[in-house]
Amino acid sequence: MPEDEAGDPTDPIVLGRRIRYRRKRLRITLEELARTVGMAPSALSLIENGKREPKLSTLSALAGALDMGVEQLLGSKAPSRRMELEIQVERVQRGPMYAALGLPTVRVGPGMSTETLEALAALQQQLGQRLEEQAATPEEARRANTQLRARMQGVNNYFERIETMAAELLTAIQHTGGPLSEHHISRLVEHVGFEIHQVPDLPHSTRSVTDLRNRRFYLPSSAGAGSPWSVLLQAVGHHLLEHRRPANYGEFLEQRVETNYFAAALMIPETSAVDLLARAKSQRELSVDDLRDAFAVSHETAAHRMTNLMTHHFDIPTHFEKVHSSGIIHKAWQNDGLQFPTDHSGAVEGQRACRFFSARQAFSGTNRLLSHFQYTDTPHGTFWCSARVEGSEHGEFSISFGVPYEHVKWFRGRATSYRRTSTCPDPACCQQPSPALAEQWDGQAWPSARPATHMLAAMPAGAFPGVDETEVFRFLQRHAPTVELDGDLA
Ligand SMILES: [Zn+2]
Repeated sequence: MPEDEAGDPTDPIVLGRRIRYRRKRLRITLEELARTVGMAPSALSLIENGKREPKLSTLSALAGALDMGVEQLLGSKAPSRRMELEIQVERVQRGPMYAALGLPTVRVGPGMSTETLEALAALQQQLGQRLEEQAATPEEARRANTQLRARMQGVNNYFERIETMAAELLTAIQHTGGPLSEHHISRLVEHVGFEIHQVPDLPHSTRSVTDLRNRRFYLPSSAGAGSPWSVLLQAVGHHLLEHRRPANYGEFLEQRVETNYFAAALMIPETSAVDLLARAKSQRELSVDDLRDAFAVSHETAAHRMTNLMTHHFDIPTHFEKVHSSGIIHKAWQNDGLQFPTDHSGAVEGQRACRFFSARQAFSGTNRLLSHFQYTDTPHGTFWCSARVEGSEHGEFSISFGVPYEHVKWFRGRATSYRRTSTCPDPACCQQPSPALAEQWDGQAWPSARPATHMLAAMPAGAFPGVDETEVFRFLQRHAPTVELDGDLA
């Protein structure tokens, strides 16, 4: 294990081991140390096992009783090979890999021989490596996704800079509230000094192409599925947010999140949306449906916008999921403690959502015209959710938005009696067939898997993942105002 990983001084597992190690060296019992610092032995035991973080006052009392400084106690290195092994095995047991595989854990304590520990640690490491190699999604993509999610959580999914930029633009084009009309959008494009060109031959791998030299936005001439205007707003966003050619997949993802945000902030302006939401909250009638209808946007855009605004303006934490009818998660967000399934590396996208979550239950409803409301009891609390199924060129997706139980009083749909229990990632929740069913069919089924089609399944190389650059350059050349045809480019 790399030293910096063992060395996180705030890691409660490392701290707990250091306290126990020092206590034993001084030949003090758990009860004696607990009495000296004035706490229950059970509480001290939780700290030593890394299951609770001590308060700073407790920490200095412990350091004093163990005859050492606080910094010394917080020291970053495991004092012995044995302890390093204990920490490593313990940490992996508590990590996403064990949870995802449903592996049983063992008590890592003095009763376990160093030989057993060495073997366990080596097995864990090999298993992690093998899973890494066979995983369908490239490591870089998953890591970038996980890092981006952490950054979004840090700001409660509220990007102040983009909100300000959108508000200034709306003022500049004299938009005074309500939905953004086509008229507003063309003024906006004019305002930033561009022209819109609709063409029948946009490269297959693109939704829009921007010609920076001639200041043109190229859009498909037939709308197809999805709104051409949100695609256009995203193109404007790339330009105004000064996005440069992405250097890696992480930057590509970040740019995509920012332009999505930018388009949503224009279509559902912050000031009018917060007015509407505040009024709805005072009547205990908050709903994604109303936000969607008031601004004439897709259900996904409205639900996404709820996640931007609810925590920042109303102190209500939220979660959001976009799940394909196959059960695969395409997008997920939470700052309310709802646990999504993860693979061994912690990535959510590409995992199968729990069968009992509203994101899956919404598909079984017979009335798809109305939103599905549901309470879900999980090991991390009870959550309320509203979900809706939307069709797209890639099939049907459920869009779900929800909040923890204590905040449901503000939302329409709280009266539902639909209730499910999820114990995921416990494999017995919904991933493993029941023993009776398994007995009936084990060894008698031979399914043929459909190739994975979700966005991270195979990330093509290149600066703009999935885009055929030759096709794009040829396209621009073909449409540019003054073209000097060069034989092999025509
Ligand atoms: Zn489940």
